[in-house]
Amino acid sequence: MRKNVIAGNWKMNKVLSEATEFVGEVVNKAPESDQTEAIVCAPFPFLASLVEQTKNSPVKIAAQNMHYEESGAFTGEVSPGMLKDLGVTHVVLGHSERRELFAETDESVNKKTQAAFKHGLTPIVCVGETLDQREANETMNHVGNQVKAALEGLSEEQVASTIIAYEPIWAIGTGKTATSEQANEVCTHIRNVVKDVTSEETAEKVVLQYGGSVKPANIKELLAQSDIDGALVGGASLEADSFLQLVEAGK
Ligand code: 13P
Repeated sequence: MRKNVIAGNWKMNKVLSEATEFVGEVVNKAPESDQTEAIVCAPFPFLASLVEQTKNSPVKIAAQNMHYEESGAFTGEVSPGMLKDLGVTHVVLGHSERRELFAETDESVNKKTQAAFKHGLTPIVCVGETLDQREANETMNHVGNQVKAALEGLSEEQVASTIIAYEPIWAIGTGKTATSEQANEVCTHIRNVVKDVTSEETAEKVVLQYGGSVKPANIKELLAQSDIDGALVGGASLEADSFLQLVEAGK
């Protein structure tokens, strides 16, 4: 049985006091459950303090990006080892905003995915198509290629513990959610691609999240789909109340 993994991606929002207040509330109220996992993906400056705050709770703290190199002359970058050392457990890789605005490529995402495993971090790898690609019927091909590229060189065990987030770019921050059927159709395709490059057993273990205008009103329907095992949530993860409702829905 796959768990439902609900991850709140704050993106570049909040200051430390707001982050602390949010996590304080979530730590107190998040349900203890074997069936669901709650992750807060926070900006780098808050990570150390949030890890400390969540120490005795089931809530996990993730970074939103990292570099793949171990150390050295990379001004402004953060290494996988630094995140691991802080107690961060997960890292979001290849978010469409990073691919579009910061020139991330399939190749760099693959290097980062490998680096995450090397340091004991669980990658949340984001894939997804633009509206133009969807309208040109390129969704399956594009998303499939992104998945294959991200997983290249990983062992089956590593693939099995990779979280893949399907985020159609046209549904991010637009209020336009993919229908749960549309989302599931692509997630099923992703699972088949994973099966093709590994095995059925491995593909069945991979947690597939949907992301793009997820909110308390649509989460249940999304999670009820056969191949959707959680959500990567932007806007609706910024308020503790709404994040907690999403986590509750994953139980
Ligand atoms: P929204 O939930 O705001 O659409 O953002 C989705 C997203 O990009 C999460 O990573």
